[in-house]
Amino acid sequence: MSVLTASMEGLVNALKKLPGVGPRTAERFAFYLLTQPASIAQEMAQAILKIKQTVGFCKTCFNLADEDHCTVCRDPGRDKSVVCVVEHPRGIIAIEKSGGYKGVYHVLLGALSPLDAIGPKDLKIQELKERIKQGGIKEVILATDSDLEGEATSLYLGKELRALSAPASAPVQITRLAAGIPMGSAIEYADQVTLIRAMEGRRAL
Ligand SMILES: [Zn+2]
Repeated sequence: MSVLTASMEGLVNALKKLPGVGPRTAERFAFYLLTQPASIAQEMAQAILKIKQTVGFCKTCFNLADEDHCTVCRDPGRDKSVVCVVEHPRGIIAIEKSGGYKGVYHVLLGALSPLDAIGPKDLKIQELKERIKQGGIKEVILATDSDLEGEATSLYLGKELRALSAPASAPVQITRLAAGIPMGSAIEYADQVTLIRAMEGRRAL
């Protein structure tokens, strides 16, 4: 039998669903929230509900967006001829923080992972091909993570996109971020200098 009340137990169970939050941390959060004014709880609950109601994906690049298109795609100052491909919107946040990139993005919403049964059709790869087919893109930078799934995804995309852009009179250059991103890690954990160097030293695939 639990020593917590049913409602406290409900909150602990809900908090445990967050990544990196185990039972003890969940309990600590729950007791902390219990001591806070009701307005804090209301604010948090509303903020969580609001992202579920308003945040969607950009119709062009699948970044997070409050409207049809994300802030990057809506920015007329961005170079639409360079597309940086990342696994998750979190990758965009990391590259934007580095401040050295002025192109646009394409979010795959994942990476190839045969073990988890995630294949090309589960990612936004067809949508990327459509964007390239529409023309106007000079370079596609593959900025997937440097772990096994990210590398596999990059290899697959390199092959697919080269085949796609081959017959065109204006070839699309496919590049991969340079080494410097620690092997086996997500780009969101790379520091800003490393990210800028990796972007500058990208190589043709
Ligand atoms: Zn967008």
